[in-house]
Amino acid sequence: MQQYLFIFLLLLVIGAIVFLRLNQANIRGRRGERRISSRLQSLPSEYHVFNDVYIEVQGRSIQIDHIVVSRYGIFVIETKNYTGWIYGNDKSEFWIKNMYGNKYQFRNPLKQNYSHVKSLQCLLNIPESKFIPIVVFLNGATLKCDTMGIVIYSHQLRNTILSYSTLVFSDIEVTRVTELLSSVCIVEKNRRSNHVDRIKEGINEKQALIASGICPRCRGKLVVRRGKYGEFLGCSNYPQCNFKSNV
Ligand SMILES: [Zn+2]
Repeated sequence: MQQYLFIFLLLLVIGAIVFLRLNQANIRGRRGERRISSRLQSLPSEYHVFNDVYIEVQGRSIQIDHIVVSRYGIFVIETKNYTGWIYGNDKSEFWIKNMYGNKYQFRNPLKQNYSHVKSLQCLLNIPESKFIPIVVFLNGATLKCDTMGIVIYSHQLRNTILSYSTLVFSDIEVTRVTELLSSVCIVEKNRRSNHVDRIKEGINEKQALIASGICPRCRGKLVVRRGKYGEFLGCSNYPQCNFKSNV
């Protein structure tokens, strides 16, 4: 009887370990996001913070991690939760994450964030010079990047924002922008979780990414490969990512 109890407890412990390991990445991602949000909330009250923003621009829906509106400019923040050494520059289409020799490609976050700035510029009708794009890596990454663009660690975010002290907007303009952003952001729960919309957006985005040679699953580079049944598009991060599509 005691033996059974022992085996039962052992299985329980193994189950718990497996469950925790599977959830670790997920939990870490969410914790990281929250940490960025709380860093931004600690800014003085003249900074208006928008987290996890969904907007529609010219029929396309885009997601922006954080936007901070202030008299010193509009900060557009893209966060990345990667562990390992990060290599990249301003121009290349892809960056590389190297973890214990395991290389992994992902879309250049500066370019990704620049497209967000372009969309916001079009939506708000504000010159590009008043936007400050920032790419933030959460703890776990070691930056080996060579960029002119702002690529920083999360603990540097607050001071980076506060280091901008030249006034570019009046109080009235700040109010206009924050009101406009609040009115266009898709925040209502039912709209955001609207299945049909999301699937449609997903398909459009997926097709757009594939057309531009980007893996929709991991944002890696797509390459033409040869298989049993002819050529197909495969992800260059194979075997970590096994996305496939027709040529
Ligand atoms: Zn992939």
